[in-house]
Amino acid sequence: MYVMAAADGYRALSFWHDTVPGTLAASDQLPGDTEADVAIVGGGFTGLWTAYYLHRADPGLRVAICERDIAGYGASGRNGGWCSALFPASLAKLARMTDRAGAIAMQRAMYETVDEVGRVAAAENIDCHWAKGGTVMLARSAVQLERAREEVAEAREFGFGEGDLRLLTASEARDMAAATSVCGGTYTPHCAAIHPARLVRGLAEAVRRSGISVYERTSVLSLEPGRIVTRSGTVRARYVIRATEGYTPGLPGYRRAVAPVYSLMIATQPLPEAVWTAIGLAGRPTFGDLRHLIIYGQRTADGRFAFGGRGAPYHLGSAVRPSFDRVPAVFAGLRRTLAELFPVLGDVTVTHSWGGPIGIPRDWCASVGLDRETGIGWAGGYVGDGLSTTNLAGRTLADLITGTDSPLTRLPWVGHRSPDWEPEPLRWLGLNAGLQVMSMADRAEAETGRPSRAAGFMGRFLGG
Ligand SMILES: Cc1cc2nc3c(=O)[nH]c(=O)nc-3n(C[C@H](O)[C@H](O)[C@H](O)COP(=O)(O)OP(=O)(O)OC[C@H]3O[C@@H](n4cnc5c(N)ncnc54)[C@H](O)[C@@H]3O)c2cc1C
Repeated sequence: MYVMAAADGYRALSFWHDTVPGTLAASDQLPGDTEADVAIVGGGFTGLWTAYYLHRADPGLRVAICERDIAGYGASGRNGGWCSALFPASLAKLARMTDRAGAIAMQRAMYETVDEVGRVAAAENIDCHWAKGGTVMLARSAVQLERAREEVAEAREFGFGEGDLRLLTASEARDMAAATSVCGGTYTPHCAAIHPARLVRGLAEAVRRSGISVYERTSVLSLEPGRIVTRSGTVRARYVIRATEGYTPGLPGYRRAVAPVYSLMIATQPLPEAVWTAIGLAGRPTFGDLRHLIIYGQRTADGRFAFGGRGAPYHLGSAVRPSFDRVPAVFAGLRRTLAELFPVLGDVTVTHSWGGPIGIPRDWCASVGLDRETGIGWAGGYVGDGLSTTNLAGRTLADLITGTDSPLTRLPWVGHRSPDWEPEPLRWLGLNAGLQVMSMADRAEAETGRPSRAAGFMGRFLGG
């Protein structure tokens, strides 16, 4: 009875959990002390992709995943479904961290990763509603149009052409997504819209089929060289991988490693074809606009809008709680923004609203790595761009663990160490001030038509 109730509870996590086929009942817990070659903490995309590619590299490896709830419980099951080539650090920043060639290699690896996710989904028969329609980012003011030009100019500086990112005229952009006030935009083909819970649950099944143990409802209390300790036993392993993203501060010793910041979403009822004819998004490109406080959306396979944004508060002490997933004022704001973009949605019914934590490292740069001495590996800090980046992380961790020297292990994010966040209350003050400034900057830009200097300053201060 308890398992049934919990499974139903997991359905309420998001629109995606609510509509994923199959059961959400937890599988076996870790039955007691055990031995493995690789022990992974966290059953989201990072943990699952790592296990998937480890098995392919060496089917003899014993891999155990310990997940506190169910596979796909975290951000991996709840996100916006943008399988994109976005990486949280800009090309210029990556070039500063390494060099121009490193930045270009990283971006190319991200482009390839989008297709790799689609390839594995097809190979493993995971129907994740894959639609590689690219991304259209709308410019809805002169300031946003300038930002679009800058992004395209940066891409050109690094040798990426029209086929990777191009500027759109107002009418081209409106043809793709007929939002209000559109004066241009950008388009990249490197993104697929997917149903994330279908992908993550399907991937967990594929991993299990290959003989890997995915222990659910197994809470890891500590992660140390050579072992992870859970409530129901200890897993001893040469390699221990931290794949806990926004939940990382809950692990002893990692309180300041990333800051969990919430991203929230809504989904509408399925819309009639006539509404979609008016709006566009044919081919299901993902879309947003070029404001500071990110918004993102997709037309789902069943004809709804799934639409999200940042703006929910950061919680003191990097606290993560289920109650933080739901902030009525942010949901109302998303509802308003969607109707501003597409007035035809003025009285559309919102059927689902949800949220979850993303992991933000102090320097806004995701990383993956393995400390050979301790055997502890990690990947994360994706700042809300983890759906495909986790795949690159999984392939990279598999190469690092099996000692395979590959182009992936030489990418600039490998072994990168982000500094710790400030102690509280500075962290709380800085992050919430940043969120406020970004939202005020968007309002000021809309009113004055001039770029906000405060947003630029805050972006640099926070390291974004
Ligand atoms: C609302 C929202 C929208 C987003 N939209 C997009 C998008 O459109 N595109 C994109 O690229 N990215 C998006 N992201 C980010 C993306 O979902 C994440 O970057 C990615 O899923 C991270 O995967 P992960 O496996 O590292 O972390 P998670 O999926 O969060 O998995 C971590 C897992 O670790 C488990 N765990 C934590 N602590 C413990 C413990 N002590 N013991 C055992 N298990 C533990 C958790 O239960 C969880 O299942 C979004 C995120 C959110 C929240």
